[in-house]
Amino acid sequence: MKNKILKYSILAAIIILSIVQVGCTKELQMVSDSTYMLGTYLQLSVWTTNKQEGMDTIKSSFERIKEIENKMSTNLDESEIGQINLNAGKTYVEVSEETVDIIERAIHYAELTNGAFDPAIGKLVKLWGIGTENERIPTQDEIQNALQFVDYQKIEFQGDNKVKLSEADMRIDLGGIAKGYAADEVTKIMKNKGIKHAIINLGGNVVTLGKKADGTSWKVGIQDPFEPTGTHMGVIEVYDQTVVTSGNYERYFMADDKRYHHIIDPKTGYPAENGIISATIITNSSTDADGLSTSIYVLGVEKGMQLIESLENVECIIITEDKKVYTSTGLTERFQIIDSSFQIEN
Ligand code: AMP
Ligand code: MG
Repeated sequence: MKNKILKYSILAAIIILSIVQVGCTKELQMVSDSTYMLGTYLQLSVWTTNKQEGMDTIKSSFERIKEIENKMSTNLDESEIGQINLNAGKTYVEVSEETVDIIERAIHYAELTNGAFDPAIGKLVKLWGIGTENERIPTQDEIQNALQFVDYQKIEFQGDNKVKLSEADMRIDLGGIAKGYAADEVTKIMKNKGIKHAIINLGGNVVTLGKKADGTSWKVGIQDPFEPTGTHMGVIEVYDQTVVTSGNYERYFMADDKRYHHIIDPKTGYPAENGIISATIITNSSTDADGLSTSIYVLGVEKGMQLIESLENVECIIITEDKKVYTSTGLTERFQIIDSSFQIEN
């Protein structure tokens, strides 16, 4: 009797073992798709044993991004931000909890940077029209006038989810942070669907989910600001983290040999000009990385690096127009320059 039990137990164990083995041999494959939203090119890649589930996850992710765009876009009058802007100086507008959260997160970065990052930058962004058919150099008067209406301290809240801009000419613009939030939300969806390896790339806002399928870290290329998209000047090794860059090459126009780009200094009203041409943040939350990369770009090398060093678990790579590269102290081992015309400056 005892023998029989033993025999059946061994048999059961072997069967279970072989089922596990079949499970393991089902290979991970990459499923990838791209689209255009949030004013940029988006690409999602997931590694899965079930192709259909991978495709469904990507579809849900794109739907979620659309939902965020429909709430937070400055360019859509019917979005929640569009409604706040249309009712500026007039009435409170009731918006969703997540829109309030992102406005508050943006205000947090405005406070942290003493206004170098300012979600109330909308009037200036519209005036310059960079990346739109209305792009032009505004007059001094126009800039001076617009500057009066860039002040995050004049964003008012009532109850849990009502927002109002205190002056009629004020405009909120979450372009400096919303992509990061969308990337975090996509990461959440993928984790919930059981995805263990993925690359989420929302126009240069990259999130790496897990490690690569072979167990090694991802290598994320850092764009060479002087070369066409896809040319890298360095490589950073990461997993389960985000890599977000703000660069002067993303959106700009040229006039008289000068580059007018899309990151505006709220102190001057002109595109930030302090030597930085790209700022990359490496950290856990893509919302934070997005807010910080724009912030650092405006703050400049010295103040920017000071801020990054004061934050835990946040690293950065700053490139200046003379091809110098500044990295935060926690990064040295993980970042490698692959184009020797760039020089580390620490
Ligand atoms: P990013 O590419 O993340 O650096 O964000 C740039 C976008 O943020 C611009 O296209 C504007 O929509 C917005 N923006 C520009 N200047 C600022 C600023 N000083 N603070 C906050 N947002 C800004
Ligand atoms: Mg940003």
